[in-house]
Amino acid sequence: MEKPQKPRNAEPDRMQDLISLCKRRGYIFPNSEIYGGLNAVFDYGPLGVELKNNVKRAWWDAFTRQRDDVVGLDAGILMARRVWQASGHEEVFTDPMVDCTNCQSRFRADHVIEEYGSLDVCPNCGMRGTLTEPRKFNLMFKTFMGPVEEDAALVYLRPETAQGIYVNFQNVQQSMRKRLPFGIAQIGKAFRNEISPGNFTYRTREFEQMEMQYFVPPEQEEQWFDYWKAQRWQWYLDLGIRPESIQWHTHDAAELAHYARAAVDVYYNFPFGFKEIEGIHDRTNYDLSRHSEFSGKDMSYFDDQEKRRYIPYIIETSVGADRSTLAFLCDAYSEDEVDGEKRVVLRLHKRLAPVKAAVMPLSKKDELVALAHAVHDGIRSVGLTQYDETGGSIGRRYRRQDEIGTPFCITVDFDSLDDQQVTIRERDSMQQRRVPIAELRDILAAELA
Ligand code: ATP
Repeated sequence: MEKPQKPRNAEPDRMQDLISLCKRRGYIFPNSEIYGGLNAVFDYGPLGVELKNNVKRAWWDAFTRQRDDVVGLDAGILMARRVWQASGHEEVFTDPMVDCTNCQSRFRADHVIEEYGSLDVCPNCGMRGTLTEPRKFNLMFKTFMGPVEEDAALVYLRPETAQGIYVNFQNVQQSMRKRLPFGIAQIGKAFRNEISPGNFTYRTREFEQMEMQYFVPPEQEEQWFDYWKAQRWQWYLDLGIRPESIQWHTHDAAELAHYARAAVDVYYNFPFGFKEIEGIHDRTNYDLSRHSEFSGKDMSYFDDQEKRRYIPYIIETSVGADRSTLAFLCDAYSEDEVDGEKRVVLRLHKRLAPVKAAVMPLSKKDELVALAHAVHDGIRSVGLTQYDETGGSIGRRYRRQDEIGTPFCITVDFDSLDDQQVTIRERDSMQQRRVPIAELRDILAAELA
């Protein structure tokens, strides 16, 4: 049976290498693994949680610490059902679903068309004419509030964090005495009952979003849309993403939500092709108008300098914490050769690397171990560090740190006992230099700043 062609730049082997590294080194595990796993949910291991936290911190800092016009929020995952009626999610947050009558696989119709051009052939079994007509499927997870499972008690797990920001617009604006333009940033869990999840953590059913909604006067929407596009592009470059790894995708009329004036996505070049990691949307005054209408509360803003009242327009930047973390991992993954052996290195940006430095004594002799522990204690304040006296040559221990992306290894050897110096070995260049133990903390802090 002829199978449809895969996208041209796909590198599935590379993805497999990364997935096995993530499992082996404590980055990402399958969820509920001992029970056979739960499809499209993943657990972050000790290094994964550090990496994702570093990504979230870099995002949070860029919005709330580095500027005065954006403030934070942490709204509930559960919200009144009316919110999702006002936003349109209850009615239209659907994906077109097709089933294969031969192999029973299920796909998103738009994904099949995007990748294979039509719905003629099943992407799984390759049979022609076996895909059903597309049917609409609502992606929101349902649950019930209180003891009775009845329609009146129905609530949804939020499919996006943005609505928590819109409904709190006035609380934030008034309590923080903000004048427009200003923004509200939020990081939190979102849930979507995706029809065809996959590609590791790229499309999952439980994930985290980092969303910022920027409220502007009507006539400034275009200017701020362009501004946030430039800011968000630079954020990726500042955190080490190679410029050739990302590209813009502009929504055409068919893709554009009916209320949006403009929308662009940042696409990242994953081993399975260029795919969306972030959306930047000019949402007009749709959101606050709808919440005014459905809640009966006036969501307008009064500009007391210009003496005019209007419903703010919104520019949104929305990125998945998991998807962007996966992009950072893919971009960092590299293989080179050292002394005739393959070396796997995660070239993560220093701000993102989970472990900043690892201290290793050359041997397990008591006096070296004691000094190495003292050196380790002296650098704990630079970030998460590791102490490694496990067996294996120093070379083997370096490789292990390279594989998890640790920027610096500190070796304590017999000379250190006399000269009170240690060797710093740098991950990417593999260059080594001797530095006094007394200066080590400050040197690392400066390198990691
Ligand atoms: P897609 O077309 O891939 O389903 P979307 O356009 O519906 O994504 P948005 O609603 O704009 O996505 O969500 C903003 C961001 O949230 C996305 O760019 C992505 O990074 C993240 N995201 C959305 N759905 C998922 C998911 N199922 N798993 C992981 N991240 C997701």
